[in-house]
Amino acid sequence: MEKCEIDARYAAFQIAPNELAAALALLPKLGFLGVNLTLPHKIAAATLVDELDAFARQAGAINTVRVAKGRLFGSNTDAPGFARALRSEFSVDLRDLRVLLLGAGGAARAIAWQCAAEGCPRLVIASRRLEAAQQLVQALRPAFLEGRVSAPAARWEAAPWEERALRSQIANIDLVVNATSLGLQPSDPSPLAPSLLLPRLLVYDTIYRPERTALVRMAAEAGARVANGSSMLLHQGALSFETWFARAAPLAEMRAALA
Ligand code: NDP
Repeated sequence: MEKCEIDARYAAFQIAPNELAAALALLPKLGFLGVNLTLPHKIAAATLVDELDAFARQAGAINTVRVAKGRLFGSNTDAPGFARALRSEFSVDLRDLRVLLLGAGGAARAIAWQCAAEGCPRLVIASRRLEAAQQLVQALRPAFLEGRVSAPAARWEAAPWEERALRSQIANIDLVVNATSLGLQPSDPSPLAPSLLLPRLLVYDTIYRPERTALVRMAAEAGARVANGSSMLLHQGALSFETWFARAAPLAEMRAALA
């Protein structure tokens, strides 16, 4: 904002889940232009704003709120931010990748809907609560039915969080995305066993702190191409900036600020 000579400040507030509705209601009264929301608020906030854009309505999760004329507009920049990050890290597009998505929370939902929007040829969602992955797959059904059909593996499916099941899925996967919070603690184990991390895979961990999670470390050791979530953080932030200020974000300054 300084670089663009915008007279505003970006500050962090710690809000408990039971304070979220009251905090959002305060935004117009306190003169906020908008906010970003992070874990664990993304799904709850989507039910609390006045309007959602079409993508956020489908995804059921938001990370960006714009305040205008006393109303709250919710959108999701995690998903297009993730797609931009993949392009910048690996020079690939989701429409060319068979994806194994780990997790079924707010970030995973957004990424899954982005996969659908870009017509990715195959999406497998694995979550430690299988029913959460199944619900997400069910919600995606209409979007995927409209798209291409891939053979021989199922185009979209939920998989149990078990090594054996994941091993058989990996054979038909190009990109693994960790969208769980497993890895946020430096002592957290990798969500995938080392033997599942093949050299031909692309591995994207949405976690950016710690910089190298056990998944990123082990996948790199296995010879896979890896990236952490800092590129997604950058691009989702740039897209939020564009939502609030209706102008291009100063990407180079933002990248330098994150380094
Ligand atoms: P949510 O709380 O909505 O979802 C968390 C997900 O992680 C759930 O599916 C949860 O499963 C799963 N999970 C949590 N602990 C474990 C575990 N020990 N083993 C297996 N699965 C687990 O969080 P978000 O979706 O908002 O965030 C998820 C991740 O994405 C975070 O690590 C966050 O840092 C990252 N992120 C990164 C961004 C970026 O810009 N780089 C942007 C947004 C998110 P269950 O339902 O069973 O609890």
